[in-house]
Amino acid sequence: RTVYVNGQYVPENEASVSIFDRAFLFADAVYEVTSVLDGKLIDFHGHITRLERSLSELGINFKVDADALLAIHRELVSKNNVTEGLVYLQISRGAASDRDFMFPAADVAPTVVLFTQSKSLIKSALAERGQKIVSFADLRWRRCDIKTVQLLYPSIVKNEAAKKGADDAWLVLDGKVTEGSSNNSYIVTRDGTIVTRELSHDILHGITRKAVLKCAAELDLKVEERAFTIAEAQTAQEAFTTSASAFVCPVVEIDGAVIGDGTPGPIAKRLREIYIDANRAAAI
Ligand code: PMP
Repeated sequence: RTVYVNGQYVPENEASVSIFDRAFLFADAVYEVTSVLDGKLIDFHGHITRLERSLSELGINFKVDADALLAIHRELVSKNNVTEGLVYLQISRGAASDRDFMFPAADVAPTVVLFTQSKSLIKSALAERGQKIVSFADLRWRRCDIKTVQLLYPSIVKNEAAKKGADDAWLVLDGKVTEGSSNNSYIVTRDGTIVTRELSHDILHGITRKAVLKCAAELDLKVEERAFTIAEAQTAQEAFTTSASAFVCPVVEIDGAVIGDGTPGPIAKRLREIYIDANRAAAI
């Protein structure tokens, strides 16, 4: 694979960053993951808008040039012959000359790294059978709206979920579901209303969430943006998650309770199809 590091395209085994990089020592970095279908980028500008916000919330001194970043994404997709998969972009505050909690002087250049991953996204065994979810306390820091590389807790709960025979974890804060380990969470009530937590510092403002809520509005489906409990989810008609890499992915079990008839629900399946069709057509 060819990867991108600070202006250079290099083979992955020749890429290097400093051990004093603040991403490495302090998780002081933000990232975006953009999916690729037919060799084209899905909702690129949505990701760039969120990237700018994450950088600005952390005061990382990187001037986003959407056209330049688009060119790098395209170049990597092309060099690595990615037809379906992901582009990962990470920007850290940069490498200081030593380990220091204080931020380095503003003239330290941010570290910019991109790489691709080829994988099948549309055909998904998980989406076909539906995910089993288990819940965990949401012990993350309280600025989950900033897309930082501080992913230890989500990674731990994903592993704990797997140990329990499940596919993923949903996080619970003050009795209500915030979101999944790396996706936004939804239920569909028995009267057909889609419910997903409102935007706040407690969840990542998913690019796919926004696009899927737009699809739901176009289908005249009712949407309520509010928090829900695990108990409410367990008696819901359907449940699903959204993320850039898994699109809309149905949920069929939550903490041992079967959702609906235990197979992916019709609204989740419909939203998955419509989301893929609309965003594939608009890919750049
Ligand atoms: N929440 C969390 C915690 C995530 O890590 C992700 C995936 N990055 C999402 C939600 C979904 O966001 P998006 O639709 O932008 O991929």
